[in-house]
Amino acid sequence: MRIVIKVGTSTLAYSTYRLNIQRVKKLVEVISDLENAGHEMILVSSGAIAMGAGKLMLADRPSDIPTKQAAAAVGQCELMYTYDNMFSEYNHTVAQLLLTGNDFHSDERRTNFTNTIARLLELRVIPIINENDTVTTDEIKVGDNDTLASQVAVNVNADLLILLSDIDGLYTSDPHTNKDAKLINVVDHLDEKILTLGEDSHGSLGTGGMKTKLNAALRCVENGCEMVIANGDKPENIYAILKGEQVGTRFVRRQ
Ligand code: GLU
Repeated sequence: MRIVIKVGTSTLAYSTYRLNIQRVKKLVEVISDLENAGHEMILVSSGAIAMGAGKLMLADRPSDIPTKQAAAAVGQCELMYTYDNMFSEYNHTVAQLLLTGNDFHSDERRTNFTNTIARLLELRVIPIINENDTVTTDEIKVGDNDTLASQVAVNVNADLLILLSDIDGLYTSDPHTNKDAKLINVVDHLDEKILTLGEDSHGSLGTGGMKTKLNAALRCVENGCEMVIANGDKPENIYAILKGEQVGTRFVRRQ
């Protein structure tokens, strides 16, 4: 299978904006193991801005664009250094791809990007993708990595996209404010009613929320790719997801 895994900032980092080493180690182990088993693995990783903010010892996640971009430039190095080291322990090679919205809008750029990914996968490299935060402005940015991951998944004809986040999946209402909210296990038909469940929800450390995840699911299922939203606190859950066991919320692709 060709599998895209997107990992959010809240999964990779503590609220101190420092790396959750144990979590990232486990994630790297699982992805390496699945690649060894014959799957083609692509990672879409957030965390550049948070890592940069941590390393620069900024008091908070930056809100102005130049500081965000500076933090992303610093943090992206830190992220890739960490991934490169950790994946090397399992004898895997990683590659960094930084994309913007324009790369999906232009046929030429999209073809370049998909050709590069195809060749990297043939070479058994694990591509690690993030938005090119240092050069993006409002007009050209994808904006959040849920959207970016779904664009990647659809363009590389992935079989499955797994969004790892700090929430267990899609609930019947916001579980932070409604204790009776129930986890939805499977969404067979992603319709307007389901899409409205994502209104007004925000992620804690990153930029995505449930709304961006549902829009990502819509893009995937309409283009033949299955998607799962699951909690990233236990990366070994990815094994259970591949076995079709009940973890998080599964969005069934339209035939
Ligand atoms: N590209 C951003 C970063 O690496 C993350 C975007 C997101 O959280 O969705 O910090």
